[in-house]
Amino acid sequence: MVYDVVIIGGGPAGLTAGIYVKRAMLNAILLERTGIGGQIIITDLVENYPGFLEISGGDLGRKFEEHAQKFGLETKSMVEVTGIEDMGETKLVKTTEGDFDTKTVIIATGTTPRKLGAKGELQFIGRGVSYCATCDGFFFRDKIVVVVGGGDSAITEAIFLTKMAKQVIIVHRRDKLRAEKINQEHAFGNTKISFVWDSVVDEIAGKQVVEKVILRNVKTDALSEIKTDGVFIYVGLIPNTGFADVKKDEGGFIIPYSGQATSVRGIFVAGDCRVTPLRQIATAVGDGAIAAVSAERYIEGL
Ligand code: NAP
Repeated sequence: MVYDVVIIGGGPAGLTAGIYVKRAMLNAILLERTGIGGQIIITDLVENYPGFLEISGGDLGRKFEEHAQKFGLETKSMVEVTGIEDMGETKLVKTTEGDFDTKTVIIATGTTPRKLGAKGELQFIGRGVSYCATCDGFFFRDKIVVVVGGGDSAITEAIFLTKMAKQVIIVHRRDKLRAEKINQEHAFGNTKISFVWDSVVDEIAGKQVVEKVILRNVKTDALSEIKTDGVFIYVGLIPNTGFADVKKDEGGFIIPYSGQATSVRGIFVAGDCRVTPLRQIATAVGDGAIAAVSAERYIEGL
């Protein structure tokens, strides 16, 4: 059988694309390599998605999923896409669970947290080093934790960690944060949060578990030590686009053209995995809707 649309990725972008393609009565399937919902599932609190003053990422993800199911979107979890073969009028989406023939593809695969590359980082994953405060914050009740990064992820997760930890120290390589101003204001006003500016983590050290980080001031090269029980790393995102043979920027983010098209006809892109000035749930949802309508128009023109 040949699908009209195969959507790759079950986050807000992919699920929104699913809602729109089903409302267009297209024959579609959504493939997801883990569970449906996307990155927001591990976000404690969302307070900038219009219509919801405050909602947990998990609850919002489930609402997106329910909404797509209401329109009959077929979804398959635990399926990893390994490649897309462009056969002209159809594409062959190759996966760990077999191949899917389709007229169009919407890539909405999001991103994965970037590793810091510091000495000791990999050795202590699960023993003090984490990339997910919502998953692991609980283990740091009344402890001291270091958060690395100055973007929205670092700042919002640092704020979340103050609910459990007794002290949260944000280490940032510059003296200005990149995060949204309102998030900065919340962090600066939180008495449990302190900052170490102009510094990078040279080493994460300990015996069985993390005991300290060794910092280097990038302006003076001076080394210093902070005793800590945990290190939460939020130093940016790597797009999950390795399987896709379409034009990308030097970071691997897919270059979008008009209507969320990619450099390959019939393949569209939506959400965080594309080149974009803003990575938010609101922008992912908009991308998903546009990609779906573009796929519909493309199929009509075949
Ligand atoms: P990001 O915006 O790319 O920020 C990454 C941070 O890590 C930057 O502060 C960067 O420093 C720092 N960094 C990068 N490489 C580093 C290294 N090797 N050593 C030390 N520090 C390093 O990533 P993000 O915070 O994960 O956010 C990704 C996207 O999601 C953004 O568009 C963000 O707005 C969005 N987001 C939004 C919210 C929200 O509540 N609105 C929440 C989470 C994420 P520099 O600043 O010096 O480059």
